[in-house]
Formats: sequence, structure tokens, C-alpha cells
Amino acid sequence: MNASVLVINCGSSSIKYALIDEDPQAPRLDGIAERLGSQAAVLKGTDSAGERFSQPLPGADHAQALSAILDRLEGRKPSAVGHRIVHGGEHFTQAALIDDGVIAAIDSTAALAPLHNPANLTGVAATRQVFPSLPQVAVFDTAFHQTLPPRAYRYALPDALYRDHGIRRYGFHGTSHAYVSQRASQLSTHGAGGWLTAHLGNGCSTSAVWQNQSLDTSMGLTPLEGLVMGTRSGDVDPGLHAHLHRQLGWSLDEIDNVLNKQSGLLGLSGLTNDMREIEQAAEQGHAGASLAVEVFCYRIAKSLAGLSCALPTLDGVIFTGGIGENSPQVRRRVIQLMPHFGFALDDATNDATIRGREGALDRADHRGPEVWVIPTDEEARIAMETRHCLETHA
Ligand code: AMP
Repeated sequence: MNASVLVINCGSSSIKYALIDEDPQAPRLDGIAERLGSQAAVLKGTDSAGERFSQPLPGADHAQALSAILDRLEGRKPSAVGHRIVHGGEHFTQAALIDDGVIAAIDSTAALAPLHNPANLTGVAATRQVFPSLPQVAVFDTAFHQTLPPRAYRYALPDALYRDHGIRRYGFHGTSHAYVSQRASQLSTHGAGGWLTAHLGNGCSTSAVWQNQSLDTSMGLTPLEGLVMGTRSGDVDPGLHAHLHRQLGWSLDEIDNVLNKQSGLLGLSGLTNDMREIEQAAEQGHAGASLAVEVFCYRIAKSLAGLSCALPTLDGVIFTGGIGENSPQVRRRVIQLMPHFGFALDDATNDATIRGREGALDRADHRGPEVWVIPTDEEARIAMETRHCLETHA
């Protein structure tokens, strides 16, 4: 069987795709169709020679964009489609072969991810139309965290809110935390022990992984809980919402918008949500940018230290995501803020580990918990889970 998987990540007006072969040497074809439904719709990507292309698709909808993507696969025929689905609620503890029942279950969790799940389902419907004979698999951002014990996933709220309305912590970025922790388990002599993972991109979350199972994570009911992110506040006092409403007369929508879109690195720095620019501005003496880096790193360290309570042993911490993979400064600051954990960061190795480099950052003679950078590959994980799901259904 040709085991190429077409990985699809569908938003309300975009489709990200990647064609991933089981053979890691086979070139990956990937790209994104953006601004779908408008005259500015465009498909951008990379071909097998590594050349970039940009193809206007004026007025294209999701199905038309998928047809254009199919034409860009250079004759390679996928044997399955793996869909990234943001929220699987409590229905899905692993990837699922898509049928009408699975679609209904994804639809029933739409209240928990109103921006994402309906868009993801648009992608499923369009893909079924364009590739009617291919098996389709749903891979959930939340599924990896379904192993959290109740002490980690329950909020201290009235029981009925959990029982009747599913109000609990779900966690996100599951494919990334799963990928990097499994990879570190393969690479490190420590194996699949206890790993703390820090996915630091525009969205940021941490996770405690024990023997390849997630035992706790920083995101909760929504991807707003936890760390400081590009534009998201992360944790605030739950009393803040009532305070802003009563004192400033803000509506729920205004509060939601401020916490999700105007906070985080952007809000603290008053400049940008982009860590590269913030680091540059901080170097040039911008006080808001310096504070943003300081709060960002402190909150990561505090979160990792807290999550260590979930692990029977601590074998190491793993940094990933655009910031985790590329910012030696953020990694150094986080590790410096955790002096009781026995890490031993080698500064030269840390400084040299950027732009997709993978490796341990420890001093040569170090025996304790390790520090790793593992570039995340959510598409590879989705392709792997898709194959695994199909094998179990064969
Ligand atoms: P992601 O969402 O994983 O693509 O990560 C995006 C974040 O990574 C943005 O805040 C970028 O500024 C940040 N980033 C990318 N490259 C660097 C870099 N060289 N140094 C610091 N931050 C970076």
C-alpha cells in the first residue's frame, strides 16, 4: 500500500495541507490556501524541488481549493486523509475513522470550539466531495490529554457544570506535545520517563508527560488558560471578568476580545505579538518589551514547576514551537528560573540550537534531568496517527 497521507488543517477561510509519505526521505509537499470565499483567494506552497509557488484562486471555496491542491500533488496519490480537528471533547481519546457518527460527535462539541470545529467539519465535507474513495481520519488536538486524571482536569466548580455541560479542562496542542515527548523518549537515554514539554509559538502551552501519556497541561476548557501567549493573556484572576464589566461597563464580547486578541506579549509590550521583534526592542532598552519577556519566561517556569507535581520522576524538559525552537534567551531564562530542578544548561549549545536543530542542551558531564529542543512536527504526528487508525480498522 502507498502510505502517503494528505494532512488537512481547515480553518473558516483557509486550508493548510501537507502530503507526507511513510518514507521520511520522500519530499514533503505542503502549502496553504488562504482567503477562501473572496476574490483574493490564493494557494501558496512548495513543490518537490523545494520551489515556492503562488496560484490565485479568485472566489474559490473549500472544495475548489482542495481540487487545486490535488493538482499540486505532482501525481502522487494519497492513500488517506488525516484531518486536524481542534476539539474532540470527551468523545475521542484517539484518532477516529470518519463516518457520519464521528461527524455528528464532532458537531456536538462545536459549543466548546465554536471558531474551530465547524471550520474543521467544512474541510471534512469538502474533502469527502473531492476524494470520495479515500478513508478520512480525524486527529484531535485534545485527544492526547484525555489521559489526565480528574484531579488535573476538574475545575473546583459545582459538579453539575461538569456533568451536564462538559465544563472541565481539555488541553490543546496535543499532537505537538505527543510528538516531541515521544521523540525525546526515543533520543534520550532516559527513555519514556517523565517529560515536561513547552510548546511556545503564537499559542503556548505546557504539558507533563509520563510514559507517553499526558498527566496535566496548562490549557483548559479553552486555549486561553495558562501561559502568556502572542495575543492571549493566559491565566488571569477569574474575578477579572466581573470587575471589567462592573467597573468599565465592558460587554462579554469586549472582554473576550481583549483577553484573546489584545493581551499577551502584544498587550504587555504595547508593540507586537512577535517574539523576535520583542527581543530586539528589549535589547534596545524598550521597557514594555523587557517586561513582556520577563513575564513570559516567569510564567513558563512557574507552569513547568507546577506541572512537575504530576510526574513520578523528572527526566527532562523539552522546548518546541517557533519561540521554543529559536530563542536561546527564552530557554536560558526559563531554566535559570528553575534552580531547584537540577538542570545544567550548556550556554554554547543553547545558543547554537536554532532554526530546526534538534538536540540536548546539557553540559557534557551532566547526569540529571535534561533540557531538549525538539522541533515539533504536528503534520508528521497526524499522518502517523492516521496510519495507525487505519491499521487498527483493517
Ligand atoms: P509558531 O506559532 O510556532 O510559528 O511561532 C511563532 C513565534 O515564534 C513568534 O512569536 C515568532 O516571533 C517566534 N520566533 C520565530 N523565530 C524566532 C527567533 N529566531 N527568535 C525568537 N522568536 C522567534
